[in-house]
Amino acid sequence: MFDAQQRTVRDLRRGNRAIVLRALYFEGPASRQELSETIGLSPATVSNVTGDLLASGIIVEAGLADSDGGRPRVLLRVNTTHGYAVGVDVGETHVRVELFDLDMNRQARAEYPLRPAGHDVDQVVRHILAGIDVVLGESGVPRERVLGVGVGVPGVVETGPDALIHAPTLGWDAVPLGRLLRAGTDLPLFVDNGATSMGQAELWFGVGRRARHAVVVLIGSGVGASIITDGATYLGANSSAGEWGHTKIMIGGHRCRCGGEGCLEAYVGARGILERAGVWTEAVDEQAALAALVAAGSPVIDETVTYLGVGLANLINLFNPERIIIGGWAGVLLGEHLLTRIRKVVADNCLAQPYKTVSIGLGRLGVDSVALGAATLVIEDLLQANPAARPNGAAPRPRNRAGI
Ligand SMILES: [Zn+2]
Repeated sequence: MFDAQQRTVRDLRRGNRAIVLRALYFEGPASRQELSETIGLSPATVSNVTGDLLASGIIVEAGLADSDGGRPRVLLRVNTTHGYAVGVDVGETHVRVELFDLDMNRQARAEYPLRPAGHDVDQVVRHILAGIDVVLGESGVPRERVLGVGVGVPGVVETGPDALIHAPTLGWDAVPLGRLLRAGTDLPLFVDNGATSMGQAELWFGVGRRARHAVVVLIGSGVGASIITDGATYLGANSSAGEWGHTKIMIGGHRCRCGGEGCLEAYVGARGILERAGVWTEAVDEQAALAALVAAGSPVIDETVTYLGVGLANLINLFNPERIIIGGWAGVLLGEHLLTRIRKVVADNCLAQPYKTVSIGLGRLGVDSVALGAATLVIEDLLQANPAARPNGAAPRPRNRAGI
């Protein structure tokens, strides 16, 4: 009984702490009084919680704000250099490792090219671990100030201590990436699908800011999507939701890299487009080849506009988002040249009611935002849970997603 009561009090404190910290992270700086008004906690509770957060160094005072007639109020904000997050993009052609402060300013970056045909797991793990050392060395940030490492990968990530990756496009079948990385670093690890984590970054910092219901589609060589419903990423039963690229758009259609036929990815992914145009080879520079094809125009590009528009209309009918954000290097390339035509196809294939309320635009974070998205996994953990366990080194924190 006593234990249960104690636990409830502790949970309540942790919940309040998360609410205050989240408000300061996204809306700060703010005074204690503004916090109390916006989040609905009593002034006494806000005062207690901010006192704890100030003592742990995770927030700092940020000057004074005038108040009407009364004493000036002290503003509070998150301490940008309280800790750092590593973001890793395991892409189709590279492994990229980046280090961010809490404001998501990039401090350092390391990149290792991969041959599109070869994703040797051990090599990818070596690149990630080497990249962590490089970005810490370059930035001068001590390892104990790193809150964790977020890793964005293509494919499905199975939640659990091993973080099993199922990525047929890489030739990975139940690869225990989490366990392999764990053998080489003791930093907290968070592994998730790259499109899902990029969606979170767009929601926090990009075009999706403040959207409660949005879909971020990521179109590169492959195709994925991150579905945000009521402000949270929809993961599904096993975190595999959002595999929009493998929804069928043509019965008996082109073969997809997943082994299926007629998947959307085979029609709107860069490699699928180039294959249908007869210009795909293993040696081709996909980005240059697709840019040339889009600039020149081609029946395959016209067909791509149709399939992409229909694919987006299906998402709108299913999820009723306020916003669709098109990201990924190929998505931005197609969108910059063809967005008006794509919108027209969406309008022709979507129910009128949900179409009326949706906006369709391009991602703002650029084509290199998977590492940033992966780093948000670490920040999410910081905001959700925690008693500032790191960098001051205390108890383990609850993990979200495939946090290890
Ligand atoms: Zn497929």
